[in-house]
Parts: sequence; structure tokens; C-alpha cells
Amino acid sequence: MSRKWLVAGGGISGLAAAQCLQANNRDYLLLERCPALGGLTRTTQVEDFCFDYTGHFLHLRRYPSPAEIPYGHLSNDDWETVERKSYFLAGGRLITAPVQYHLGELPDGLRDECEKSYNARPKAEADVTGFREFIVSGFGQVVADRFLIPQNEKTMATPLNRLSIGAVKRFFPPPDEARIRAGLANTGERFAEYNTTFWYPKRDGIDVLTRGLAHGLKSASATEEITAIDLQRRIATTSSGRNVAWEKMFPSIPLKALCLLTDDADLRNAAARLSHSSTISFNFGVRGKLPSALKDAHWVYVPDRDIPFYRFGCYSNISPAMASPGLSAVYVEVGVPGEEIDNVDIISKTQKDVIAALETLGWVKSEDIICAVTHVIRCAYVHHTPERDRLVGEILARLKEFGVHPIGRYGLWDYVGMEDSISSALTTVEGEL
Ligand SMILES: Cc1cc2nc3c(=O)[nH]c(=O)nc-3n(C[C@H](O)[C@H](O)[C@H](O)COP(=O)(O)OP(=O)(O)OC[C@H]3O[C@@H](n4cnc5c(N)ncnc54)[C@H](O)[C@@H]3O)c2cc1C
Repeated sequence: MSRKWLVAGGGISGLAAAQCLQANNRDYLLLERCPALGGLTRTTQVEDFCFDYTGHFLHLRRYPSPAEIPYGHLSNDDWETVERKSYFLAGGRLITAPVQYHLGELPDGLRDECEKSYNARPKAEADVTGFREFIVSGFGQVVADRFLIPQNEKTMATPLNRLSIGAVKRFFPPPDEARIRAGLANTGERFAEYNTTFWYPKRDGIDVLTRGLAHGLKSASATEEITAIDLQRRIATTSSGRNVAWEKMFPSIPLKALCLLTDDADLRNAAARLSHSSTISFNFGVRGKLPSALKDAHWVYVPDRDIPFYRFGCYSNISPAMASPGLSAVYVEVGVPGEEIDNVDIISKTQKDVIAALETLGWVKSEDIICAVTHVIRCAYVHHTPERDRLVGEILARLKEFGVHPIGRYGLWDYVGMEDSISSALTTVEGEL
């Protein structure tokens, strides 16, 4: 039996890995469970609307522009740079995000409470390790309790005291005193901002990135799921009933699910201790334009616990081509503990609550919704618990013994964006050539 270079999963990480193998003349095969390639970086087109798998915006640090993404086959003419307009729902109004740097926009009473508690914030231990402790010592108890703790608990669908500071990463604007004080004083002073701009396709949604990365691939099989992995014999069995022997395997399948496909008791036990959230993304095609408060909003963070979603976004405010003229394409994201996503009626129940909340907020009227598309992201945010680093290290080391080298955000059980997923997949594959 000839052995392949096996790429498991056809999201952007798997596509980049396969391109690299093809360019290096390796006998590779990419297997993807779904009918379409792209994983989470996909767009659904329904009549007058385009909906991504929730908002996916390309922030670039390593590659100067989309055209320079290796193997991307992208032209910058198809993309534009967009200046981020994101908000935080706080004190009954929309505050510029990140809220911790714009507290002066709050109603006066609430702003003063935030300042008082910031001045009285507990001193951080030299080696803060907990995410919750990092937030309270960095921003004060009121900002933590009213905004940052509920926002992150809704998103991650877990109590923050379970999570370590590893969950914070570069995505969390840090407790920078000069910025917090300038925000409290509402001086309007401008600081170098994190992620102020991003790239987005002029039309057709984020699928443009997937189409580019998939371009010219000669050995990709969709609708073919890996159902079992025999590590000792290095053979993957698929839903089509074929056995594929691997020389090296590069899986972007979530690490927990990957371990559970194997027959290795140690891996299965370690995987059982990894946890994650799921996200349900409800997309709505809406008649007319959004109310004036939202007229330029790309997305809004929503910390209130009695509102089911943690974020609301508007694709057509980012790219007008996401909806036909006179219509709006919007999405909301609801966080659910990973183990609850298979509950039978969770989608229909939650959708009702979501629409009721949009009505109450005055953002969308139910009679204006002319189309609804739901995307379920089974593994959305992995939980950086204190034991995550050790477990992942042990799992990766064990898999390596069998020529298995996980890639991408979920293969590596991490919290990273699209660019990092692509570039780390390429680094891994290049290291094994
Ligand atoms: C709510 C949310 C919002 C995000 N927003 C952004 C953003 O704005 N900007 C940004 O840069 N990043 C964002 N990301 C991160 C981004 O989605 C990921 O970095 C990226 O999609 C990872 O790509 P991937 O190919 O590694 O994984 P995936 O896209 O998950 O691809 C994995 C593939 O493996 C396939 N698969 C699974 N099991 C099997 C099996 N047994 N056999 C065969 N195939 C299988 C799946 O079907 C899937 O196609 C966001 C993520 C989430 C959850």
C-alpha cells in the first residue's frame, strides 16, 4: 500500500498545507468531511444575501496584503481595507470598542463608578495567572463585573475563573493606564490602536479567500470524512470505506475530536479533559436599513446576560455587496458550552429568544426578517484552562511519534485568526518536507 501525505480537513489551514505539498511534488490527498471546502471561512449565498460563517475579517500582520498570502492566488483588486467600526453596548448606549479605553462615553454616573473602582483596583500579583484576576486587577471591579467578565463568559460559554491568562493573547486590549485614563477623561486623544483596519473582499464574502487557496488543487476529496485512525498502522479509514495509509498526516480537525478518532487510550483520556465553546451564528436578511444608531456599525459586543447573544454584526455595513440594494445582511452570535450543542431543540429555542431580543433593543423588527440562515460552529473557542498547555503538549508529542502533525487554530487547540492558521500550517508542512 503506497503511503500518502494526508491532509485531514479542508479549511484554510488544510488548503494551504495541500498547496504547499503540491508545489513540492508530494503524493498528497486532502480529505474534507463537508460537501464544500473552506471550513469556517465560507460564505452562503441565499437570494438577496451573502452570509459568512459569522463575521470573518482578515487582519494581516505577517503578510502585507492578501496578494502576498502564499498560495492564495488572490488579487488586491478584489479586496478593500476597511476601517473598523465596532461598539460595546454599555449603560444603554453604544460605546466605542474596546470599552475599557472609552469609559468617558458612558452615562456620567456609570463613568464615575468605573473611575472610582479603577482607582481602588486590587494590586495585581507579580505573576497573574487567571483570566478573571487579570481583568479585575487591570480594569477595576466595576468594569470587570459590568462589562468584561459577562462579555467573555458569554463568548467562551464558561466561567472565567476556569481560564488562565493564556486565553487573553494579543486579542485582548491590555490594562494600559494612559489609555484607560485618557478614555475616562474622554480627551479624544488617539493612540496606536490594535486591529484598526482589516481586509475584506469587495464582493462574495470571505469565501474569496477559500476559493483562492483551493485554486488548482489536484487531489482534494470533499464529502469524505475520516471516521477512524489507526496510529500503529498509520491508516485512516473514511466514510467512503477506503483506508488511506499516511507517510505524514496534517490534521486541522479539532484536536479533541482527532484524539477521539484514535484507538489510543492515553490520547482519548487527555482529550476528554479539553473543553471548548460552540457558537451558533444566526444570520438574518432584513428589509430596509438598520436604525440610525447602527448605521455604520460593523459589529457590537453585547455583555448583558439577559440578551442571548454576545455579538451582533452587519455584513452589509462592511461590504454593501453582501445584500441587494435596500436590504441588510446581519448576524448574531450565541455562545453555548460545547457539550450542549447537540441538544435537540437548542437552535429553534434560541432563535426565538434572539429575535425577541433584537426587537426589544429596537435593532431589527421581526416582520422585516425575510430570510434566516443558521450556522453552527461546533468548536468555536477552545478553553485555555491551566492544564491546557500541558495536555496539548503531551498530545502533540504522542501524535508526532506516528507522523501526525496537527495544524490550524483547532488542530493546535489555540485561539488564533485566519492568517496565523495559514502561516502556522505552512511552517509545519515545510518543516516536515
Ligand atoms: C466566532 C468566530 C469568529 C472568528 N472570526 C475571525 C475573524 O474575524 N478573523 C480571523 O482571522 N479569524 C476569525 N476566526 C478564526 C478562524 O475561523 C480560524 O482561524 C480559521 O477558520 C481556522 O481554519 P482551519 O482550516 O484551521 O479550521 P476549520 O475552518 O475549522 O477547518 C477544519 C476542517 O476540517 C473538517 N473536518 C472536521 N472533522 C473532519 C473529519 N473527521 N474528516 C474530514 N474533515 C474533517 C471540517 O469540516 C473543516 O472544513 C473566528 C472564529 C470563530 C469561531
